[in-house]
Parts: sequence; C-alpha cells; structure tokens
Amino acid sequence: MRNPVITVRDLVKKYGDFTAVNGISFEVGEGEIFGLLGPNGAGKTTTLEIIETLREKTSGSVTVHGFDLDRHPQEIKKIIGVQLQAAGYYPNLHLKQLIALFAGLYNREVDALALLDTVNLRDKARNRFKELSGGQKQRFSIATTLINEPKVIFLDEPTTGLDPQARRNLWDLIRQVRDRGATVVLTTHYMDEAEALCERVAIVDSGQIIAIDTP
Ligand code: ATP
Repeated sequence: MRNPVITVRDLVKKYGDFTAVNGISFEVGEGEIFGLLGPNGAGKTTTLEIIETLREKTSGSVTVHGFDLDRHPQEIKKIIGVQLQAAGYYPNLHLKQLIALFAGLYNREVDALALLDTVNLRDKARNRFKELSGGQKQRFSIATTLINEPKVIFLDEPTTGLDPQARRNLWDLIRQVRDRGATVVLTTHYMDEAEALCERVAIVDSGQIIAIDTP
C-alpha cells in the first residue's frame, strides 16, 4: 500500500447498548480504490459517516490526510467529497442550477457544463433532477462530490439498483476520478464490482473487519 491517507484505529460506535462498530482499524493508501463489503447492518455506512464527519464516534481515532477528526473536522470537510446512500436534491432545479448551488456552498467557481461532461450529462444540463433516470441520478450525485476537487471521495453503494451497462459506466467514472488523483472509498454488495474496481477490500461483519486484502 502507498502512503496512507486515511488511518482508522480502534473505531467504536455504540447506539445505546448496541455496538454497531466494534473496534475497526484500517488504512487506505493514496490513490487507492478501497472497498468495504459485508452484509446489511454490518456497520459499513456508520464507519464511513464517522470518517466523513457526519456521525459522532464513541471512541477510537481517525485521521484523513494528516487531519485528526477530533481536532480538525472542518479541514477534513474541505478535502473530501461524499455520496450518501440516498441523496436529496431540489427536484425542480435543473442540473446547472444545482451545480451552481453546490459551488456556492463550497465558495467555488465551477464550469457546470465541463463538470457535467465528466459524468456524461451535458445534454441533461437543462433537465430537472427528478427527470433523470436512476443511473443518471447516481452519475449526477458523483458529479456533485467533485465540485470541491476533493482528495478523498466516499461512495456508499454507488451502483445499487443500476442496470449492468450503467454499472460499468459508473466503474469507468470511478476509475477516472481515481486517475485524476483522488483516493476512493466505497461500499458495495457486488462481489464483481469489488473485484473489478478495488485494489483492496475489507469484509465487515457485525461491526468488525474479518478480512482485509486484495480482492
Ligand atoms: P447496509 O449494507 O444495509 O447499508 P451497513 O453495513 O451500512 O448496512 P449501518 O448502516 O452502518 O450498516 O448499520 C449498522 C448497525 O447500526 C445496524 O444494525 C443499524 O440498525 C444500526 N444503526 C444505524 N444507525 C442507527 C441509529 N441512528 N440508531 C440506532 N441504531 C443504528
């Protein structure tokens, strides 16, 4: 593994008496596509959302590009892009407007059409979000994670529900994002996806990593 850009040590998350994440440790190397696999409820999303600064941990430590989650969460927010399992966008804004909105939130100038080009959605620039197909919505969602030119991108089940061709298109897009220099962490339930995309995968079960290696 190259230079670690994410380091997770002894991560624990309890919801009341229930331990959803039970002492997880792993590292992700720079420029890697790293996968988290495991059954429903294993703790994958919880782990990601803690690293993404969206959820409080119970204990353990996390650093992203040298920034400690406890001390510098704002610095982490600035350098990551996040695609959640379900995204909410204003359904009646068209794609260019949505990108302008996100760019404004990041205080960035963004060429919306060029960005839509990268996800093959230029021809939908004037369509409203609710007019997109499932695969197009996923691609748009990835586009919004790229607005701040993040160093690390988190994708939670990016291809769930897509047809085989749309999944493969999305794999190409994820590889392109990596080739442009980002590190990618994703969750998936598809073994073929993990095998095709990921350099290393961790299998999570009942809040613990039970295996971590190349596919
Ligand atoms: P999936 O493959 O279904 O997305 P996952 O591995 O991402 O599953 P998590 O969403 O991390 O699983 O959930 C891990 C466990 O924590 C589950 O048992 C879930 O019910 C529990 N959990 C998640 N969020 C909460 C919450 N806010 N309060 C209580 N329990 C929660």
